[in-house]
Amino acid sequence: MYKSAHEFILLSNEKGILEVILEKEYELFDKSSLDVYHNLKKIYDVMAASSEDAIIAPEAYYGHIIGGDAKKMMDFSLNDNYSGATMIKAMARALSTSEVNASMGKICAAPTAGSSGILPAALFTAKEQLNLGENELLDGLLVASMIGELITLNATVSGAEGGCQAECGSAAAMAAGMLVYLRKGNIEAIFDASAIALKNVMGLICDPIAGLVESPCAKRNASGVTNALISADMALAGVSSSVPFDEVVQAMYKVGKALPEALRETALGGIATTSTALRLAKKILSDE
Ligand code: SF4
Repeated sequence: MYKSAHEFILLSNEKGILEVILEKEYELFDKSSLDVYHNLKKIYDVMAASSEDAIIAPEAYYGHIIGGDAKKMMDFSLNDNYSGATMIKAMARALSTSEVNASMGKICAAPTAGSSGILPAALFTAKEQLNLGENELLDGLLVASMIGELITLNATVSGAEGGCQAECGSAAAMAAGMLVYLRKGNIEAIFDASAIALKNVMGLICDPIAGLVESPCAKRNASGVTNALISADMALAGVSSSVPFDEVVQAMYKVGKALPEALRETALGGIATTSTALRLAKKILSDE
């Protein structure tokens, strides 16, 4: 049984990536591969809906602060732009899930509600780009879940404990590894992509306006999926992480512990205490 990326790499080189994950699910939770894929399919369906619902019907998915941006981004993918249509559509999908979450709609916490836009946006970007079938995408989700599991086991995915690096950073790490897997990258490249994505946002604080998971959260989901895509591309190009995934996870955990409480989901610091944010928070409270 593996507890680190290092152990996982050794085992998977012997038995295969999916086989090692499924073996652990069976040994720990008595779940057959049929059970595992049945659950993954449920997750897939929720992600498919959340990543497009707010693009199709933006008016139904307004929160207190955010709304309508997913559709704006999807429309913008048809215009001249800097990032390219793939990146812009990925951002639109991430914003969609964040808007569904802000309006109390159904999302899959992957790994948390606040960061729930990143993994689905990456998944459906890969589906579109690579023309992948559902079975391959479910395999990708299984790989992403293993990466999230390792971060949870050795650090945290909670903004209250580790800041936004632990939420959006972990989601981007899961998505980056999955993207490499879906392009048939090897296990070393998968963990390189995850490590790079996590390093890219090391130290990112959690500072939600009015304590609501809306702003700056939604835009961090949009930037989170771009982080996953560029990290995956770096790893696929053969760029390795100078520090291995396990050590990056340890570093992220230490940084999270060192963050003052004001910067860990309390809305007592960062963007949450700017004068505009305080005005917004007062208005939201008085409207209720
Ligand atoms: S800012 Fe905080 S609440 Fe918002 S996504 Fe990041 S960790 Fe979650």
